Amino acid sequence: MDIIVLKPGVKRDQIKKIESRLKSMGLGTNVIIKGTERTIIGVKGDTARILPEQEDSFRVMDGVEEVMRIIKPYKLASREVKNSGTVINVKGRKIGGKKLCVMAGPCSIEGPQTFMDIAQKVKKAGANFLRGGAFKPRTSPYSFQGMGEEGLKILSDAGKQTGLPVVTEVMDPRDLEAVVDYADIIQIGTRNMQNFRLLLEVGLCRKPVLLKRGLSATIKEWLMAAEYIMSNGNSKVILCERGIRTFETSTRNTLDLSAVPVLKKLTHLPVIVDPSHGVGHVEFVVPMAKAAIAAGADGLMIEVHSNPQEAFSDGEQSQTPEQFMKMMKELKPVARAVGRDI
Ligand code: PEP
Ligand code: MN
Repeated sequence: MDIIVLKPGVKRDQIKKIESRLKSMGLGTNVIIKGTERTIIGVKGDTARILPEQEDSFRVMDGVEEVMRIIKPYKLASREVKNSGTVINVKGRKIGGKKLCVMAGPCSIEGPQTFMDIAQKVKKAGANFLRGGAFKPRTSPYSFQGMGEEGLKILSDAGKQTGLPVVTEVMDPRDLEAVVDYADIIQIGTRNMQNFRLLLEVGLCRKPVLLKRGLSATIKEWLMAAEYIMSNGNSKVILCERGIRTFETSTRNTLDLSAVPVLKKLTHLPVIVDPSHGVGHVEFVVPMAKAAIAAGADGLMIEVHSNPQEAFSDGEQSQTPEQFMKMMKELKPVARAVGRDI
């Protein structure tokens, strides 16, 4: 028994009784996900040793609709738990619904004027989330490392002025409090996808988490990383395919678009695609953005910079605001063709 699905309108004291019974069986704490339609308790601990008769005794408890065993190693993230796709609401903007989400902005926040300029332009072009890095995971310790907390303030100001929710990366649990203060969505970057302590920390937050795929992570490993976050109480996880490391060198990474339909089968979590990091060259971003939508992605993450040649990071893969605007227009018929709006 891994999951206890509760009846609609279940009472608090009924939930408490189930929880304390689990506790008396040494199953530790459990997690309650409040879905739109149902409440689900995820059983934590060695569920394999729960006897069939013990399982039955839960089945007849007040408020219990169903007791389930989940075959997949990721349980809360699995579609077995929840058949309908999860829709995450961020300040009135939905991720996972009919309308696609587009998170756009520069790789790094470089200063207030440049950031605000990009923010206003991407908003005008139809982006519904603003992105920008303040803590940058750079390959070289000598490269620009991001503006830190000062950058977070710039991001949050631009978010307020444009009315767009903001997303930014956290690399270290020590910075999490500050990031949570300023950001609407917390990004876990590819290099930290298996930083389990960090995953558990963001699992304690109430803000949605954008979990990028690890550089060499399988889909299963990626979903297990999502499970870490969810197992600590945060069910608002958005998966972001951003390319994986292969032998191919023509592109920065190999954008695995087949991950989109595979994930749609395996998990109820929303899936977005970042073609900018996926391909690494601006000329390939538009076709892969179109392909991502055609494949069923719930949205995109796109790097945009007013002057890509001068960008502090990832200029080569960044669109100008004009290129971004043109792409947004071209994406409309693609979205429509697969029953989505952009
Ligand atoms: C980013 O979004 O700027 C970033 C560093 O992404 P990734 O972790 O996918 O490399
Ligand atoms: Mn980048």
